[in-house]
Amino acid sequence: MLEIRPTCENCNKKLPNHSDEAMICSFECTFCNTCVEEILENVCPNCGGGFEKRPIRPLNAIHGNSIKKFPQSKTVVYKPIDIRFLQEILVQYKNIKPSKR
Ligand SMILES: [Zn+2]
Ligand SMILES: [Zn+2]
Repeated sequence: MLEIRPTCENCNKKLPNHSDEAMICSFECTFCNTCVEEILENVCPNCGGGFEKRPIRPLNAIHGNSIKKFPQSKTVVYKPIDIRFLQEILVQYKNIKPSKR
């Protein structure tokens, strides 16, 4: 089950469950869509994978498995990007489609 992390790992922008801006990689590294598009170029700095929009856990879920029963994580993961390291991995990854990485 997704933790639904509360913020962008790079800029610390709040990303509540209902945000349309939250993006995640397969390990649930979580960034805002601005950081993903303008800084990361769709390369996760932790794993090299691509990002997809994070789904929203519903308020009124079937079988009651709602955001109230399974709330968003409160644990902030804040690790601003090391630009020099990012530049190194972008050279390797950004021109390869996530499905081929
Ligand atoms: Zn961000
Ligand atoms: Zn990742």
